Amino acid sequence: MDQIFIEGLQVYGYHGVYEQEKNDGQMFLVDCVIETSFAEAVHSDDLSNTVDYGNVCLFIKKYFTEKSYDLLETAAHELATALMYAFPGIQALQLKITKPNAPIPMEFSGVGVMVKKAWHQVAISFGSNMEPRETFLTDAMEQIMAHPDVRRMVVSDYIETKPYGYLDQDDFLNGAAIFETLMSPQQLLTFLQELEQNAGRKREIHWGPRTLDLDILLYDDLRMNTKELIIPHLDMCNRLFVLEPLVQIAPGMVHPVCQRTIYDLYMRLQEQMPVATESFADQEL
Ligand code: AMP
Repeated sequence: MDQIFIEGLQVYGYHGVYEQEKNDGQMFLVDCVIETSFAEAVHSDDLSNTVDYGNVCLFIKKYFTEKSYDLLETAAHELATALMYAFPGIQALQLKITKPNAPIPMEFSGVGVMVKKAWHQVAISFGSNMEPRETFLTDAMEQIMAHPDVRRMVVSDYIETKPYGYLDQDDFLNGAAIFETLMSPQQLLTFLQELEQNAGRKREIHWGPRTLDLDILLYDDLRMNTKELIIPHLDMCNRLFVLEPLVQIAPGMVHPVCQRTIYDLYMRLQEQMPVATESFADQEL
């Protein structure tokens, strides 16, 4: 990714735990590294096709001066999030805020905080086999799309599929979606589980009937294996009801463990030559 940087931007603010800091304020220094793509800008040589660092500086000054937080951690987190919302060209951001005159009775050049934010590319799968199936799925997709930390969402068609694992149950309606999110994998899992709960999901039989099932398939090229969360999703390469809708919307997305595209994985599964995935769980991720 290309980068734009801002160094040593001086902004006045009223952040701090002490009354004097809140009332009188003090000078802060802001450093910022913005990850963006210059592809369009270098082609057109047009300011409207890049992130205008002048506007970013003005935005930081206004936001930072108007708000007041006890903690620099909160100020930095809120400012970074606001920048991600305000400037769609920013794909990732590193923001450092220094307090050169913090109330510490010692000689020092600065104390401060650094935060990172990024729009992460995610793929999820979803399914329902309890009526009204379509309503459960569409409601969930609308709620994901409406989340402020989600953008650029594309949803596949819904496909009718036979049950998997536990066979004595009604057919499913399945689909997949891709989007970008500011949420961490754990935050995303919590959010998706809330949606499942809101749809009245009960975990009675493993792989049994469900109003709504939401799984995280891919999160950037992340590989993680914890008690709560395995990414890439363990079984995604063996499930036609996952790959068939996903290939519609993200054929070129790459599975970070086997390094194959979704298109390739789908074709292999159709030809009954699936890529062995059982071993992912045992891998040192
Ligand atoms: P399920 O019955 O498919 O809804 O499984 C939910 C359980 O799987 C939860 O306890 C999650 O913590 C766990 N899990 C592990 N990896 C994932 C993943 N990639 N996406 C969603 N749930 C996951």
